[in-house]
Amino acid sequence: MSAEVKPDRTGPAGAFWSALDGGRLEFQRCRACGAAQLPAREECTACLSPDLAWEAAQGGATLISWVVYHRPYHEAFKDRIPYNVAVVELDEGPRLISNILAPNDSLRIDMPLRLELGESFGQTIPQFRPRVPTG
Ligand SMILES: [Zn+2]
Repeated sequence: MSAEVKPDRTGPAGAFWSALDGGRLEFQRCRACGAAQLPAREECTACLSPDLAWEAAQGGATLISWVVYHRPYHEAFKDRIPYNVAVVELDEGPRLISNILAPNDSLRIDMPLRLELGESFGQTIPQFRPRVPTG
């Protein structure tokens, strides 16, 4: 098995990864009802309109939940354990799966976060750091 990990750029997710290549975390905003969403879809999950626009996230977010992986989910990540996988809610509303750049035992529910673009296997990825530094 290859140790390479690349995102699937087919379908509406392609624009998400392309925006990250350009240094922006973007989410979809429905032109019909105003709902904001991730992951990218062909239609609005609130009203089913296909009229969606891309909008850049401002970078503020909140930690909703997380787990800490003590066994590698994929061999490519075996040198990173133990690492956290978190659900983060952007200030604009959409949630995404990410990593928090802080010690695992410092993570707290509702912790205020700030977007920090990182790099993994050559791909720009959205990660988050606590707005208030932790010890
Ligand atoms: Zn809508």
